[in-house]
Amino acid sequence: MSRTICVTDDTPLEKDFDSRTALAEASRCLLCHDAPCSEACPAGTDPARFIRSLRFKNIWGAAETIRENNPLGGSCALVCPVNELCESACVRAGLDQPVRIAKLQRFVTEQERKMGMQILKTGPFNGKTVACIGAGPASLACASVLAQQGYHVTIFEQSSQSGGMLSLGIPRFRLPQEIIDFDLAQIEKLGVEFRYNTTVSASDLDGLTKQFDAVFIGAGLWKPKTLDLPGKSLDGVIHALDYLQNARRYEPSEKGNRIVVIGDGDVAMDCATTAQALGADSVKLVFCRPIAEASANIAETLLAVSMGIPVVTEFFPQKINGKNGRVTDISFTGADNESVMNLLTDKLILAVGQERSEELASVSRQKGLFSGGDWANGGKTVVAAIAEGKKAAASIIDYLDLRA
Ligand SMILES: Cc1cc2nc3c(=O)[nH]c(=O)nc-3n(C[C@H](O)[C@H](O)[C@H](O)COP(=O)(O)OP(=O)(O)OC[C@H]3O[C@@H](n4cnc5c(N)ncnc54)[C@H](O)[C@@H]3O)c2cc1C
Ligand code: SF4
Repeated sequence: MSRTICVTDDTPLEKDFDSRTALAEASRCLLCHDAPCSEACPAGTDPARFIRSLRFKNIWGAAETIRENNPLGGSCALVCPVNELCESACVRAGLDQPVRIAKLQRFVTEQERKMGMQILKTGPFNGKTVACIGAGPASLACASVLAQQGYHVTIFEQSSQSGGMLSLGIPRFRLPQEIIDFDLAQIEKLGVEFRYNTTVSASDLDGLTKQFDAVFIGAGLWKPKTLDLPGKSLDGVIHALDYLQNARRYEPSEKGNRIVVIGDGDVAMDCATTAQALGADSVKLVFCRPIAEASANIAETLLAVSMGIPVVTEFFPQKINGKNGRVTDISFTGADNESVMNLLTDKLILAVGQERSEELASVSRQKGLFSGGDWANGGKTVVAAIAEGKKAAASIIDYLDLRA
């Protein structure tokens, strides 16, 4: 499948706009009547509308548009693949450069945070209760819409914090914790109840659908896929999510380590850039496909390359070798069936995908049960999960209205 990718000189690590540069950038907007940028946002954040407010120096209005449409607007400004969404659709892309929508959204949500605005408001309680499983973007978006409409929402989360992959997967240098925390605080202030360290399994669902008027599953994909290779259980062979969670929590030094990452997606890029940022002696990314077919967003690949990480393509891992129970090196064969390669490594990170965890691997359809986000769509993006959470909230409201 071909992908249209719009490459700008943007990187997630670029300096933020200040008031002067933000207004100058907003004034580049052509105020398009049909606003293809807004059409292109799955969550309906409506960039055309908030940019228009910003042009008129109406920061509050701009912040309202973002927050009301996208409860995780601060985080999305930093992690959305805008070069495949709003910025790729921007009419100015055909003239010179797209309007820097993500950076404008970042500017507005940062003003909102600094001024301590509280835009979302809880609706009067309507007597109905909803349970959400998982505290990731899908459930948070669903809960936010419902709480504003007067539903009492309880979120069951297996870990000790909310945010899902935002707090537990995406590296801190791309998404600082204080940005997520502000987004989360807006939802907590709506009265949404969080029950942490609570894993829900398929056998609990019957009880939950009796206890609550509706149940939403937004449990994401938390079981790492692995490579069926000799040596995969050696010490030093780590799955990407374990590596990233540990790095996000403790930021351990990688000094002295040679690291090989296998995988061609955004998660593999995050592992490689994190290892490099933590001071590894060397980091190498290896994957089977040609670079043009890699599944990672081009901006993430460019970030890895700009950090000096070599990317080796079209090599298949064959055997993980070790000594005294610990990984020492890994051997590959080339796609041409002739080339061979052996890389010395102290840590081998497998970033070859995730799937549903056992507890909720298969769930039978039943009345009052809804789902969205990675768990339902097989793994997409934060903004797709938000869109599906919002959509599920609308379906839950319709379902409960009809039942009443
Ligand atoms: C390393 C990494 C980097 C990424 N980078 C980007 C990016 O830059 N931009 C982007 O748009 N997308 C990115 N993604 C994808 C994005 O994070 C996901 O698409 C998005 O988080 C999905 O949201 P979700 O709510 O469906 O699931 P999740 O974010 O996975 O949240 C699910 C939540 O459910 C909890 N849970 C799971 N099972 C249970 C259970 N049985 N009981 C209770 N709780 C449970 C989990 O602990 C988690 O908190 C990245 C993903 C990863 C892994
Ligand atoms: S498409 Fe670009 S120029 Fe048109 S309204 Fe959106 S941001 Fe402005």
